Amino acid sequence: MIDIPKKGKKFILARHFEGSPTHDNFKLVEFDIPDLQEGEILVEALFLSVDPYMRPYSARLLQEGTSTMVGSQVAKVIATKNGEYPLGTRLVGYWGWCTHSVVNPKNIATGMIGSFTHFPDIGNLSPSLGLGAIGMPGNTAYFGFLEICQPKEGDVVVVTGAAGAVGSLVGQIAKIKGCHVIGFAGSDDKVKWLVDEVGFDKAYNYKTADWDKCLKEAAPNGVDCYFDNVGGPLSTIIRNNMKDFGRISVCGSISTYNDKTPTMAPACEAAFVFKQLKMEGFLVSRWKSRWMEGLSQMTKWIQEGKIKVRETYTEGFEKMPQAFIDMLNGVNVGKAIIKV
Ligand code: NDP
Repeated sequence: MIDIPKKGKKFILARHFEGSPTHDNFKLVEFDIPDLQEGEILVEALFLSVDPYMRPYSARLLQEGTSTMVGSQVAKVIATKNGEYPLGTRLVGYWGWCTHSVVNPKNIATGMIGSFTHFPDIGNLSPSLGLGAIGMPGNTAYFGFLEICQPKEGDVVVVTGAAGAVGSLVGQIAKIKGCHVIGFAGSDDKVKWLVDEVGFDKAYNYKTADWDKCLKEAAPNGVDCYFDNVGGPLSTIIRNNMKDFGRISVCGSISTYNDKTPTMAPACEAAFVFKQLKMEGFLVSRWKSRWMEGLSQMTKWIQEGKIKVRETYTEGFEKMPQAFIDMLNGVNVGKAIIKV
């Protein structure tokens, strides 16, 4: 018999971010959980995600009529008045930084907030992967790299943010496709992990390395594909080391998310013209109609041991702001997850 709680907890954005997030941007509030109406379910968060998009996305919260921090979670149904959602059903949903949510599955959200999907069959793997390698970051790596970079066997691929949730997967997908993979990450430990355990051919600490020298050493004939997670000057140097007809998938720009004014990137137009580069940004929602295809392939690769997954856990819902700040500061290796 599950004890139905009367109150839930959530984090609201108490003050809009200015520069790097701090604890006083967030406020923990308690709320009453209403009785369920016919057709509704009550879900309880098991694992929650902190992701870089939450930093730039927060500016949209007020426009969207909510101040609850946006975010996804793996949750289970703990009370139900809907026969299609029995007790214990696991779901992955965008219900925000929130312990409990009352959901009416009939009112399917069209945007991100409030949308949810059923959990794919992942056998004995941890359900937390639904927020990482078998969830949105997994599909970001899968579609964002394969569809935009169109890698071929033997291609030289550079990945920034290489030890993070998306980057570590992109590098491994590139290896599966027979590419030579070079990563940039923010510590010597991350670099060692990428080369010794994840299978990158070369990796560099972008905080201490001479970027241009590293690229000339690791890719003397140039780079075919660049999966860009970070933007900023490092990306400019990488683009200038590309081969003719190089392909660039612009996934993120985390080095600029805390900027207070629009980022002025150093000019890179000459490389675009003379190397005839192709650069394309994307949002993973572009592949919504193929969502399960990506998740199934990622599950298969993990089960076959072709993709290694690492997660950095923070225990306790109350620690979400700290986990978010830590993730933005590079404390995480692989996917940053909160275990309630
Ligand atoms: P990560 O797990 O990679 O965590 C963020 C990492 O960013 C940190 O660990 C840190 O690692 C790195 N970082 C922080 N500040 C800087 C900086 N100034 N320069 C370089 N690296 C920095 O997060 P995700 O894998 O979830 O996301 C990676 C990128 O992908 C982000 O830019 C995100 O916005 C983007 N993204 C885009 C999606 C899309 O649909 N386009 C979907 C999902 C993610 P380090 O120690 O190496 O500095």
